[in-house]
Amino acid sequence: MASNAPKKGGIFQAYLNFNVLYKILIGLVIGAVAGIILAVSGITALPPWISIFGTIFTRLLKMIIIPMIVGSLVVGASSVSPATVGKVGIRIIVMYLITSAFGVIIGLLMGNIFQPHAELAQVTEMAAEAAGKTAETNVWDVISNIIPTSVLTSLVNETVLQVIFFSLVFGLCLSYMKVSEDERIRRISGTVFDIFDCLTEIMMKVVRGIMQYAPIGVAVLICEVFAKNGAKIAGALVTVTIACFLGYAIHVVLVYGGLLKIYKIKIGTFFKEARTPFITAFVTRSSNGTLPTTMAAAENLGVDKEVYAFSLPLGATINMDGTAIYQGVCAFFLVMSCFGRGLTFGEMGMIVLLATLASIGTAGVPGAGAIMLAMVMQGINLPIAEGTVLAGAYAMILGIDAILDMGRTALNVFGDLTCTCCVAKRMNYLQEDAVIK
Ligand code: ASP
Repeated sequence: MASNAPKKGGIFQAYLNFNVLYKILIGLVIGAVAGIILAVSGITALPPWISIFGTIFTRLLKMIIIPMIVGSLVVGASSVSPATVGKVGIRIIVMYLITSAFGVIIGLLMGNIFQPHAELAQVTEMAAEAAGKTAETNVWDVISNIIPTSVLTSLVNETVLQVIFFSLVFGLCLSYMKVSEDERIRRISGTVFDIFDCLTEIMMKVVRGIMQYAPIGVAVLICEVFAKNGAKIAGALVTVTIACFLGYAIHVVLVYGGLLKIYKIKIGTFFKEARTPFITAFVTRSSNGTLPTTMAAAENLGVDKEVYAFSLPLGATINMDGTAIYQGVCAFFLVMSCFGRGLTFGEMGMIVLLATLASIGTAGVPGAGAIMLAMVMQGINLPIAEGTVLAGAYAMILGIDAILDMGRTALNVFGDLTCTCCVAKRMNYLQEDAVIK
């Protein structure tokens, strides 16, 4: 009986089984073609009973941002046990964060050079509407405003940076309590950790559900964008892709090449071993899924198991350099397309901060970075709200996410391996004969 199972559920089951990111890409193509046909026929707006499918999608995305940040950051921060971190762990974490910050900067640089944007209609209205809403530019205010005076208000107002700050503080305290000598503290903190872990798992399930719906939402949103603007905007997506991939390549050469050189690790040997996890990550679009091959590469490179058994799973959770580059390029694309201007220095500083911290909460699974992009936009006070041009531009990015995700995941994994080797070398956890000159 079980052998006949595939017939059960029919088309719906087949839809669910088909790879989500390709479905979204198909949604993009269908929406674009339909939109172009409408534009050619002189129809520039969809009837409300169709456009509601796009609205539902943007509302669903907004719905999960805050619980997602809270759950994943609390779990991310409290997963690092202070007792086992030690000097090696601290160095790895610092290197992970610094390389991610470099990633965002390279992404923003690519954005400024390529200026990827679609000439979207309604831009002036959107710009006027957003005037005064953009990110705070006074750096001292930005810094002091990171600390919430009321956590509940931060949650209700969706003040992203404050929520990130509190979640990290909460998670770090939890990590200390989990290894307390007092049995009661250990027990209750274990329970709290389980609750947040469960919240994160629930949110991941919700995200998976939303992603199943995404192809429909994306198709409708894209259709609206193309109906209003015509086919000419498609070229912008090619520019976004080129800007991202060039950013990924520059990061490999400058940041990883530089680190490997500084730590005197043979680049040729390193690249030879890093090839398998790199390709696996490119194909699977999941840092977590690539972990076994990344670990095997670290082993072949002579890194002590003690180091890589800790640093690589941690890297797959908190180190996302490729995602950081993608955030920089895409934030630029969204702002330029929707407000007809580039990013201000204040916004760029904010994006560096947000995207670096967001990488801690970005799960190493396909498409997670795209959800974090919505969070970054919320963080610079330009939320992706329903019925706005921004929602349409965001759907355009989502449509090509499968392609962008391949490159960024490969880079994420490459970064984990580079930082691991460098810190292992520095702390004498690398077998001399393996890769050292
Ligand atoms: N897919 C990426 C990873 O697994 C995360 C992302 O979507 O940016 O590393």
